[in-house]
Amino acid sequence: MFDYLIVGAGFAGSVLAERLASQAGKKVLVCDRRSHIGGNAYDHYNDAGVLVHRYGPHIFHTNSRDVFEYLSTFTEWRRYEHRVLASVDGQLVPIPINLDTINKLYSLNLTAFQVEEFFASVAEPKDSIRTSEDVVVSKVGRELYEKFFRNYTRKQWDMDPSELDRSVTARVPTRTNRDDRYFTDTYQAMPLHGFTRMFEAMLDHPNIKVMLNTDYREIQQVIPFKEMIYSGPVDEFFDLRFGKLPYRSLQFKHETLNENVHQPAAVINYPNEHLYTRVTEFKYLTGQEHPKTSIVYEYPKAEGDPYYPVPRPENAELYKKYKELADATPNVHFVGRLATYKYYNMDQVVAQALALFAKLGERQTWHPTESQVAAEPEKAVALSTSGPQNGNGKTSLN
Ligand code: FAD
Ligand code: UDP
Repeated sequence: MFDYLIVGAGFAGSVLAERLASQAGKKVLVCDRRSHIGGNAYDHYNDAGVLVHRYGPHIFHTNSRDVFEYLSTFTEWRRYEHRVLASVDGQLVPIPINLDTINKLYSLNLTAFQVEEFFASVAEPKDSIRTSEDVVVSKVGRELYEKFFRNYTRKQWDMDPSELDRSVTARVPTRTNRDDRYFTDTYQAMPLHGFTRMFEAMLDHPNIKVMLNTDYREIQQVIPFKEMIYSGPVDEFFDLRFGKLPYRSLQFKHETLNENVHQPAAVINYPNEHLYTRVTEFKYLTGQEHPKTSIVYEYPKAEGDPYYPVPRPENAELYKKYKELADATPNVHFVGRLATYKYYNMDQVVAQALALFAKLGERQTWHPTESQVAAEPEKAVALSTSGPQNGNGKTSLN
């Protein structure tokens, strides 16, 4: 008899499996309907021997020392700060929009102070910032909004930014300095040997069994267990009882090229051209040296694997109904990006999973010590969107 059946071997499922097995002595069965562990963060060496991320670029960043230190138990790190260029008006310019973006785009030579004045002169003040359009237009005005955000967002979400919560485009800040990093978190790094190796280390415990190519519905009546932890889509769990929760999908087109370097940055965003949103060259992320290089194009799709919850008021309403049902379902715990319908980054999912582990411990005979209890997910959300903190992680980076 297993204590827990864990559905999904991504961050949510793997963190809980690891904690429950190693800290609470529980017997755990993890199943995933895919043929591999790691969920959307899965990486592997392709036929040419280049390390690639099957489900699009995954860059680890967090302000949470707890989360970083927790994951550091399972991997060493490689320092990596992510940089992205956007193809706009025939030029490649830094995104997030910063001082250099404006100077390059308009052939100017503004200072940081002058660019602040420039933004103020073009910004459209708003009484309330509700939508993804409001966030950008109120900061940098309509022209830059149209060049960088409007069409990218329409392509990615098949929706106008005015129909999406502000949280979507608010992920991308605006800067008046020359900082061209995509993220400013205290901890920014890639697992030295890749994400999958890190997941292998997490799941390597005698109390953990892993079943791949297995939908939980195939085994739930056959294999006995006491409680379930579910990290798949919440609407599917309840057979779409209240209708389908919208999740946005992507099609990934992977290519390997016979050249050492293909493009001048890890990621190039194409807001206004092509059917794809961005192109990623993996060797920038992984630091791998190889005579060939592998890239991936992301084509947004309505149908396919669910990758993104779609943050907008009507979907939040629908999710609320599923959440009530989830809360009223005994012995099943919902966690992760799909099961809690949150546009979470990896670190936020780790924090959420650690918080669930702490909550499970409160009801039972084991009591996680403070060091095992990471920030509440909400706190992690706030951390992830704020500027750098005075982190002083002991954990070493390579
Ligand atoms: P998942 O990784 O989706 O894992 C859920 C697992 O459950 C899946 O493996 C699925 O197969 C399995 N499952 C579902 N239903 C069933 C079932 N019925 N039976 C059995 N198994 C089932 N985050 C970052 O921090 N940085 C990034 O740069 C970043 N880039 C991203 C890029 C893309 C294109 C995408 C889509 C996401 C990105 N993310 C990034 C977010 C990151 O992928 C997620 O936060 C994280 O992987 C979520 O983990 P999870 O365990 O909640 O879900
Ligand atoms: N976005 C945009 N133009 C860009 C980059 C981002 O309009 O060049 C918007 C778009 O709506 C996107 C959102 O900001 O979905 C969040 O961007 P992020 O890069 O965080 O997306 P993710 O990596 O999660 O796909």
